[in-house]
Amino acid sequence: MLRQYELVDRVLAYDPYADEDLLNRAYVFSMKAHGSQLRASGDPYFSHPIEVAGILTELKLDAETIATGILHDTIEDTVATTEQIEKLFGTNVARLVDGVTKLSKIEAQTENERAAENLRKFLLAMSDDIRVLLVKLADRLHNMRTLHFIKSDDKRRRIARETMDIYAPLAERIGLYGFMDELQALAFRHLEPEAYDSIVKRLEGLRVGGGDMVARITSGIRLLLGQSGVDADVRGREKRPFSIWKKMHDRRMAFENLPDVMAFRVVVPDTAAAYRALGVIHQRWPAVPGRFKDFISTPKRNGYRSLHTTVIHSERVRIEVQIRTAEMDREAEFGLAAHWAYKQGDDGAPAREAYPWLRDLIEILDQATTPEELLEHTRLAMFQDQVFAFTPKGELIQLPAGSCPVDFAYAVHTDLGDTCVGSKVNGRVVPLRTPLANGDQVEILRSKAQHPDPLWEGFVVSVRARSAVRRFVRQQQRSQQLKMGQTLYDEVVARLKLPLSDGAITAGVARLKLADRNALYLALARATVSDTAVLEAMLPGSTANLKPKKRGKAGPRAAISIRGLTPGVAFQLADCCHPIPGDRIVGVARPGTGIVVHVIDCANLADPEDDAQDIDGGEWLDLHWGEETESAVARLLAVVHNQPGSLAALTAILAHHGANIVNLTLKERDRAFHGFVVDIEVDDLAHLTNIIAALRATQAVVSVERVKA
Ligand code: MN
Repeated sequence: MLRQYELVDRVLAYDPYADEDLLNRAYVFSMKAHGSQLRASGDPYFSHPIEVAGILTELKLDAETIATGILHDTIEDTVATTEQIEKLFGTNVARLVDGVTKLSKIEAQTENERAAENLRKFLLAMSDDIRVLLVKLADRLHNMRTLHFIKSDDKRRRIARETMDIYAPLAERIGLYGFMDELQALAFRHLEPEAYDSIVKRLEGLRVGGGDMVARITSGIRLLLGQSGVDADVRGREKRPFSIWKKMHDRRMAFENLPDVMAFRVVVPDTAAAYRALGVIHQRWPAVPGRFKDFISTPKRNGYRSLHTTVIHSERVRIEVQIRTAEMDREAEFGLAAHWAYKQGDDGAPAREAYPWLRDLIEILDQATTPEELLEHTRLAMFQDQVFAFTPKGELIQLPAGSCPVDFAYAVHTDLGDTCVGSKVNGRVVPLRTPLANGDQVEILRSKAQHPDPLWEGFVVSVRARSAVRRFVRQQQRSQQLKMGQTLYDEVVARLKLPLSDGAITAGVARLKLADRNALYLALARATVSDTAVLEAMLPGSTANLKPKKRGKAGPRAAISIRGLTPGVAFQLADCCHPIPGDRIVGVARPGTGIVVHVIDCANLADPEDDAQDIDGGEWLDLHWGEETESAVARLLAVVHNQPGSLAALTAILAHHGANIVNLTLKERDRAFHGFVVDIEVDDLAHLTNIIAALRATQAVVSVERVKA
C-alpha cells in the first residue's frame, strides 16, 4: 500500500503547486473513516482507495481528483456524509465523491432495467465532470486486479461481464487504452478461464521454442533504425491473451495460424520521423497487404493517432508495429486524461465540449423512452464504426458508418438538421440520402421553411437524427389532426340548427367518453368516432330529422350545354381529360360515335400515336361552354402522406369547397405515400383552381395534379 508521503510526492512530481494539505487531510480522513474494515483479500479496506488514488496519479490528475480517489468509498461504506466531505474538502471534492458514489450503485444491479436506469445516472454524472468517470474507472481497475480474492463464482463472473460490457468500452471511448487493455485482460481471465489458460500455455510453448524473441526482435529494429539515422525508442511485448483470443475469434483462426502475437512500438521525436521509420521498416521487411493504417493523417474518433503496420519478420513470424511520436504515445495511453491535464479552463472546470460523444449520449438519454431502448442505443453508440466528414470550415464531424447528409446536419446542430433541404458533398449537389464517405466535405443547404421530412426516417442512421425526425413527425401529426378534427367538428355541428352552449359540448364530450375537446377533435380526425355519433352526443335525438349535408350546388348531375354544336347532336365529355367549364375545349367528331369533347391540351390530342381512343383522323370542332352548364367532373391525382387522417383531411377540404366526390380510387401506395385518383364534381375551372390551391396548402397532401389524359 502507498504511504501518505509517497502518494503526495507522486502528485508533486508532476504538479509542484498541488494542494498538498488537501491530500494529507483526505488521506487521514479516509483512513479513520474506513477504520478496521477489511477487503476480501484480508487487507485493510483503506488500502483500496489509496491504490485507486495511486492509479489516478499515473494519469497525472489534479489534487481534487486524487483526493476524490482517496475518499471515493467513504459516503457509501462509512458513516461519513456528503455534508461532512463538503465542509472539510470543499464543494468540488464533495460533488466528485457524490458522483462516484452514485455510479457505485450500478454494481449491485443485474436486471436489465435497473442496469440501464443506473447507467443513465452514471453517464449523466460523468458528463457533469469527466473526472468522476476517471475515478470510477480507476476504482474498477483496482477491483478487477483484486477480483480473484472474491469467493463467489457468480459474483466474479458478473463483475467481469460488467467490466467487459460497460467499463472497458468506456475506457476505450475516452482513449484510455492502457485501462481498456488491462480491464479486458482481467475480465477475460474470469469469463473464459479455459481459453485463457490454453492461450497462456501456448504462448509459453512459443517462448520455449524461440527463446526471448521479443527482446531479439526489439533490438533488431532499434539497430536498423539507428543505422538509418532515425532516433527511436523501441519497445516490444507479447500481446495479451484477450487480444489474441479476440483476433482468433474475429478471424476464425486457430492459434497456430495466428500470425502476430508480438507487437512492437516505435516512439520517435516527430511526425516526419514516424513516416521515415515506417519507410525504413517496410524496406527491410515486406509489409502484409491490407494491414497498414495511417491514423496520423486520419485520427480515430477518440483522437488516437499512430501508424500501424504488420510486417513479415521472418518465415513464420509476423509482427505488428505501431509508430508514433512521444506526444501521440502519451495521448494513446492516457487518452482524454492526457489532454485534460493541460486543457482545463481558467476556473479549473474541464471543457465539456472536449467530449462530443458525451453530448451524443446525453441526447440519447434524454430521448430514450424505455430503459431497454436506452441500453440498446448506448451500446450501439459505443460500438458503431464511424465515418469522418468535414464542415466547409474544416471542422471534423464524426458519424456512424452509413450516415448521410441529414445525419451530418443533425450532428452539427439540431436546427441545421431540422431546416436542411439539400446538400453539397465535395462541392457537388447530391440527394440527402447519399451515404457519406470518409473525408467528404459536406455543406448543408437550408431553408427556414423546411421541417424534418418523415421520409428521412427511411435512410438516416444516427440515433440523433432518427429521434429528431420521429419526434417532429409525432408532433406534426398531432397538431395536424387537431386542426383537421376541429374543422370536421365545426362542419358536423353546423348541421344542427342551434348553436351549442359550452355546457352542452362538455356533456357531449362526456357522453362520448372522451377526455376533452381535443380528444374529440383527434377522434374525428382519426375517424374513430362518426359524425352521427358526435351529433347524437351533442344533441340527443338530433340525427332523426337532420337536414342533408351540404354538397355544393350540384345535387343531381346538372345539364351540360356546349355552344358550337348543332342542337340535338350527341356528344360526350372525354373521360381521358375530363373537361370542365372554363377549360378551352375542342370536339372531335368521328363517324358513328358522335362528338367527344376534349380539353385543348389533352395529352391524347397531342400524342395520337399513344391514343387508345383513336382520335387521329377525326374532325376537330371549335367549341365553347354554354351558359346553362352547372358542373362537370374533373379528375385529380392526389398524393398524401401514409399516416392516419390524411385521407380525412383530403375529403374534408373537398367537402368544405362543396365538391362532390364521384369516385375515389387508391392508385399507388408505398410505405410513405398513398396516391389517390379523385373524380370530383366542380362548378368550373375557377372552382377547381381554388380546390387545388386549398389541397396543396394542406400538410397531409404531398402533391395534387389535375389529370388531363
Ligand atoms: Mn471503490
